[in-house]
Formats: sequence, C-alpha cells, structure tokens
Amino acid sequence: MANKRDYYEVLGVNKNATDEEIKRAYRKAAKESHPDLHPNDKKAEERFKEVNEAYEVLSDDNKRARYDQFGHEGPNMGGGGYGGGGFSGFGGGQGFESIFDFFFNGADGTQRRRNGPERGADLRYDLTIAFEEAAFGCKKEFKFNRNEQCDACGGSGARAGTQPKTCPTCNGSGQVKVTSQSLFGQIVNMRTCTACGGSGTLIAEKCPKCGGQGRMRMLRTATVNIPAGIDNGQVMTMTGQGEPGSRGGPPGDLYVYITVKPHRFFKRQGFDLHCDIPISFTQATLGGEIDVPTLEGPVKHNIPEGTQNDTVLRLRGHGIQVLRGSGKGDLYLKVRVEMPRRLNEKQKDLLRQFEESLTGKEYEARKSFFERMREGFK
Ligand SMILES: [Zn+2]
Ligand SMILES: [Zn+2]
Repeated sequence: MANKRDYYEVLGVNKNATDEEIKRAYRKAAKESHPDLHPNDKKAEERFKEVNEAYEVLSDDNKRARYDQFGHEGPNMGGGGYGGGGFSGFGGGQGFESIFDFFFNGADGTQRRRNGPERGADLRYDLTIAFEEAAFGCKKEFKFNRNEQCDACGGSGARAGTQPKTCPTCNGSGQVKVTSQSLFGQIVNMRTCTACGGSGTLIAEKCPKCGGQGRMRMLRTATVNIPAGIDNGQVMTMTGQGEPGSRGGPPGDLYVYITVKPHRFFKRQGFDLHCDIPISFTQATLGGEIDVPTLEGPVKHNIPEGTQNDTVLRLRGHGIQVLRGSGKGDLYLKVRVEMPRRLNEKQKDLLRQFEESLTGKEYEARKSFFERMREGFK
C-alpha cells in the first residue's frame, strides 16, 4: 500500500470532478496505456492497472466517498483497503479487455464480458447510534435486505430437476463474433450474445420460487462492532457481506454509514467535548466545588473565587476515546454566570447592604474602565 499515487492524480482530474469527467479521463488514460498498444511494456501495463484501480474506486459513489475520507487505507474490519478484489471486468484469467472494446464499446463497464466471474454488488446500510455509543463503542445488530442465490434452483433459474440448456446462438460462450471495419483494417470483435444475455444458457422451465432470476431478496442480520470514537458520517466496511458474486466471483462489501445522534448538552469537536455550564452568581463570586457533567457521569470540580462569565474550564482526558488510537480528548466547560431574578425584599436588602460594603477594589475591570473613561473626557 506504500507509495500509492493519489487516484485523482492517476486520472488527472481534480477532487470535485464529475462522474462524466472521471469517465472521460479514464477512457483517455486507459487508451494511452492499454497493453494491446504497448506489447511487452511493463510500465504501460503497470500504468494501465493503476488507471483501472483508480477508476474502479472513483466511479463508485460509495468507494469514492470512502476514499475521500480515508485515503488508500480505508476503514476496514480486517480486510484490505481497495483494489484487493482486482478490477472486475479485467483479469479473471481472460487477459485484458481488447483495445477495440475501448474504441467501440465505450469502456465504461457497460459492455463487459458477462460470462466471467463477476464481483457481487456493494450494499449500503444507514445506522443511527446514540452519542454515548459512538463515544464508548458498541456492538449493533441490524437487519438488511440482500439479493442471494435462490436455494430452490441453486442460482440456475431453472425449475428443480431441469437444467438450463446451452444457448444455440453462442454455443454457450455468451459471446458472438462481430466483424467490423476500422482504421486498423478489418476487426473481429467479440460481443455479448443477445439471445442469452451473455450467460451462455437458456432456461426452458423457470424456477417457480425465484421466477427464473436465480436470485431472491433475503432479510439478513448482521452485527457490526463499532469502535469507540467513531463520528457522524463515518463508514464501516463489512467485507464480503454484500451481494454474492456470480459465476465464482467474490461477494461485494456492505458499507455501514454511521449517523450519531446529538447529545443533550455535549457538542463534539474531533475528540474534544464542549458544554456550557450555568453557575450561580454566588458560586462564581465565592468559588468552590461545583457539579459538572462528563460522559461518565457528574463529577466535582473546583472553580476559583471570582470566576468570570465565559471562563473555560478544561477537564483533561474527559473527552472522547481517540478512534483506533490511545488516549482521550478533553472536556471544555464554558461558565455561564446566571444572575438571580425574582428576589424578594429581604434578599434585595441583603444585596443593597452588600453594595454599600464595597470598597472599590472588588470590580477590577469595571473600575479600570471607568477610570479610563473619565480620563478620556478630561
Ligand atoms: Zn430459483
Ligand atoms: Zn448465447
């Protein structure tokens, strides 16, 4: 994974490139480096692979979002990052798709050979968790729909006891030869057989359970281990939990998109927590021990005598566990001094007595402000 070039750089597009721009850049780069045009050129082959890998990620919204967020590593649950499954449509023992497919088919994946192993589709599941669950980590079970091989026909789509028969148009290869003229002369090109859709087989009697699809929508249960410190918008990858591949291809992945519910009073910034904390006028004036909230529960905290409004108290290590790291962020408490309201006459008298007892030193900022103000008007 070391020294891997940035995928955007590989295709020569910027990070905000549209799907269309990415597709165009890919076609250009793939044509330039195609092994058919550079036989026995190792460098071109490497470049071609690099271009295809970049396109596989950037052309897929899920993968691209994941790549934008995490780079080449990607969050994973034990599996590799990207490209581990190879680029579908190429390889698979058949060699690269012919250069002519680039000229005639558009090379955007829509005309890939359909009788080779194909990786299953990736799935997305949106999971909402509580603020504390994100902070401390949790195990979540959820149900999701997945298209799977029909168990009645084993995926063939043919009624149990019958077999799909070989397609007579393509003799089971799934492809037919097409001859065309080009600036290179006459070209024999392979195209997907339209009679069988590339499968190479035809079904006479459809499986009643799946209606000949060979696949069925199943409700499945998965459990995801969410690590402490995960944040809103992050994605967990459950490798191989997507839809099964076809014709021996590997399964896709299941992406779990995390939404974290807001907390009643904590706001999160990275791994730090922020919270406003109201204290009384007398607490602020006299100082002493006050109750403050932390994620673990209320704790006692000392504030100094004469604590001013907007003072920020920092409680080290009372923030959120650093994701896949050690240590925790900090908790910042911003003091909001609350002035008392609806005092009775007795209480007001006490405050008047208090005011009369002042010597002038008690309000520093106020004193210097008015001194400077008087000087300004001399
Ligand atoms: Zn079936
Ligand atoms: Zn056919």
